[in-house]
Amino acid sequence: MTTLSQHPGPPVAGWVEPDLVAARERAWLAPYATRSADTAGRRHAECERPGAGPYAIDRDRILRSAAYRRLSAKTQVFTGEHGDYHRTRLTHTLEVTAVARTLGRALRLNEDLIESLAQAHDLGHPPFGHAGEATLDRLLADQGGFCHNRHALVLVEELEQFNPAFPGLNLTAEVLAGQATRIRSGPNSPASLEVQVVEAADSIAYDAHDADDAVELGLLELDELLALDLWGQAARRVRRHYAALTPGELRRAVLGDLVERQLDDLVTQFYRQADVASIPSAAAAATAGLRVAFSPAWAGEKLACEQFLFDRVYRHPQVLRMRERAQGQLAGLFACLAACPDLMPARYRGRVAQVGLERAVGEYLAGMTDRYVNDRHRVWCEGAKEPARLPPSEPS
Ligand code: MG
Repeated sequence: MTTLSQHPGPPVAGWVEPDLVAARERAWLAPYATRSADTAGRRHAECERPGAGPYAIDRDRILRSAAYRRLSAKTQVFTGEHGDYHRTRLTHTLEVTAVARTLGRALRLNEDLIESLAQAHDLGHPPFGHAGEATLDRLLADQGGFCHNRHALVLVEELEQFNPAFPGLNLTAEVLAGQATRIRSGPNSPASLEVQVVEAADSIAYDAHDADDAVELGLLELDELLALDLWGQAARRVRRHYAALTPGELRRAVLGDLVERQLDDLVTQFYRQADVASIPSAAAAATAGLRVAFSPAWAGEKLACEQFLFDRVYRHPQVLRMRERAQGQLAGLFACLAACPDLMPARYRGRVAQVGLERAVGEYLAGMTDRYVNDRHRVWCEGAKEPARLPPSEPS
């Protein structure tokens, strides 16, 4: 890993570029925040754009990647057949990023790093959400399985291309390390505070929006949610201010209340930790075991809520039917491509020599959107006629 190289020089003789990022971070970030100036840099040395900061540059590269845009057509919990109201993997990512930035600002952490980590956190998700991941994991069991968090690293380090001089997006060591800590089976290196913020924001976002989507789609009744302690208390708080609300108004107000309360809890818990004010650096925060975590009361309530969502939404017959169809389509395409790898585009055929046939097929399938899986299954497995002109949906 090399440190960041210097920009070639000022555009006007004698003009000195002020280090705005360092100055802003000195003025605003807490001593325990990750500093851009302390980055361990990128694998391949590059000239950095002055005034942007390394983590903002990472964010821009992630946003411009094909894998990021394809999140718009990948399942969070519900697929396209459920209409247009529900979250996709992309809108989930945007909600996580918004919550994470708000939390990071309150804790005076590095928001640029938080934004990059949040935008990248689900980049490796295959089509059809966790059903797709479980299928690929089973199909690749002999090759070490499939984990979307690990696949995100393969995407940003090998498959995406930003500069012809090297593979991948050449992200900073801190963004790569942060994503690596999300791999549960990986080495347990301590997660930075910025990574912990994204984890907490992910949990806040999906608990809220999966419940919201499930009610809107008619899989759950609002009254069933209001019977949970967490939702019931939030509804009482809301009704103290608004006596007559429609069910839709009440649901949205309760969701807003729950997100705000969880943020308040995280911030309060954080500043309650001993010696927060005297921790001098991000490294010292890791040594001291500084945590971004819910209070035991909130953690317990969230667990009960997540168990309810698991039983009632993620195991709903409609969702299970979608899972089964998705698993069948992915397994069918896997067998078809393993038998005829020439159906894959050149760069995935090229991956076969590097990572083996099964892994290359798995990577190709993981890059597909839900609708591209449907489309390819129709043509390659069901014998439908190939459209005259293919839309540019193929993972590239
Ligand atoms: Mg997520």
